[in-house]
Amino acid sequence: MPRRTKIVATLGPATDAPEVMDGLIGAGLDLARLNLSHDTHARHRERVERLRARAAAADTEVAVLFDLQGPKIRIGRFAAGPVLLERGAAFAIDADCPLDRGDASRVGTTYPALVEDVRPGDTLLLDDGAIELWVEAVEGGRMACRVVIGGRLSDNKGINRKGGGLSAPALTEKDLADIRFAAELGADYLAVSFVRSAEDVRQARAHFQAAGGRGGVVAKIERAEALDGIDAIINAADAIMVARGDLGVEIGDAELPAVQKHLISRARELNSVVITATQMMQSMIESPIPTRAEVFDVANAVLDGTDAVMLSAESSIGQNPVKVVEALDRICREAEKSVTRSGHRLDSVFGRVDEAIAMAAMYTANHLGVKAIAALTETGSTVKWMSRISSGIPIHAMTRFDSTRRKVCLFRGVYPVAFDVASTDIHEVNRAVIEELLRRGTVCDGDLVIITKGDRSGVEGQTNIMKIMRVGEHRTASED
Ligand code: PGA
Ligand code: MN
Repeated sequence: MPRRTKIVATLGPATDAPEVMDGLIGAGLDLARLNLSHDTHARHRERVERLRARAAAADTEVAVLFDLQGPKIRIGRFAAGPVLLERGAAFAIDADCPLDRGDASRVGTTYPALVEDVRPGDTLLLDDGAIELWVEAVEGGRMACRVVIGGRLSDNKGINRKGGGLSAPALTEKDLADIRFAAELGADYLAVSFVRSAEDVRQARAHFQAAGGRGGVVAKIERAEALDGIDAIINAADAIMVARGDLGVEIGDAELPAVQKHLISRARELNSVVITATQMMQSMIESPIPTRAEVFDVANAVLDGTDAVMLSAESSIGQNPVKVVEALDRICREAEKSVTRSGHRLDSVFGRVDEAIAMAAMYTANHLGVKAIAALTETGSTVKWMSRISSGIPIHAMTRFDSTRRKVCLFRGVYPVAFDVASTDIHEVNRAVIEELLRRGTVCDGDLVIITKGDRSGVEGQTNIMKIMRVGEHRTASED
């Protein structure tokens, strides 16, 4: 059985060698993430071009996701190298300290307006929570703190405020330039960091579309306040990312598992798509095998119903990116065997004919013992609805559009297939679909297949037919 959960891996220096890129594709990479917090546009362009060339050579679809840096608030740099902060010592984040002049008593920040959001009694977390500071006083640009958890602090580390509430807008000047770049490179997805509200998602989409971008928008859930308006954010975006790194720092690590489960189930209920990200295979940056805890983490995300699992440093700067993807592949496949079928939304009312057909197809497929589903789709909506229902049955998105084929790379249990309905004789469509599935080896004679399509083929939103066929009989059956 093909793996249903999708794999997103961040490209970086460790994936640049041609054999590594081929290895990732061979191991089943579905989406490549370009992290715009690092590297130059020229480097990202090279990576995207190489990836597309190698994916085409392997005759497979790999989508690209551009991930914006967003308003990641950072400390400045230290004049004489890293400092050691002792527990109980005084240390200041000081907007008046030049960015390159930090020392053991204070350091500057890339976001001077931070002082306006910080109050005495707040907790500031540096370096993803490795260092904790308690704010004693705010005077002018200076946040005078006491070190609660000390350690070594080096240049440019991130700053988070426990509990969230920082007012930094979600899109910086750099992000706007990066959005234009992503649009120019034909990004299949644009991930927006630190969104606070649905409005942030809409603004990012407006900039992306104005620059000619046609891909989907992923809202990264990594601020505490995003959780309050989560339904609106899910509805405004095409997908969400459970960005456990920054989110865990803001809300506390112990809160993460319940929040992850809630975000995944809410996204699915609202017919949206979800990526689970950060530290899934962290130890494999250096180790050839994951820890047991990592195996459980990945498997639990699969059982929670995530569409995709994501690698960051594990692939971009790790010792063996291909091995990490192979490990994810193995864990996901095994976990998928114990996924239970979903309740088919027996209580819900469907708003559209195509949605009703998608649900009917899944109900039938899960209860009749169908081997494969083939959905003729223009935009991918039908297959997205289908894949919101848990099942072990592969859903083939048959479409002539490259952009749709790459978009569905993110949907759990959905496989893109190039199929040009517009140039297929109207009386030959079912036959041609089944022949294509036979060619791919996903069905054999005697298997049942469900085909969904529209009377007016090649028109968006028009799916109104569900056809059940037996492979073999398709050769002589009449169309319709
Ligand atoms: P990042 O986002 O890797 O861009 O920081 C993911 C996260 O915060 O988990
Ligand atoms: Mn983040």
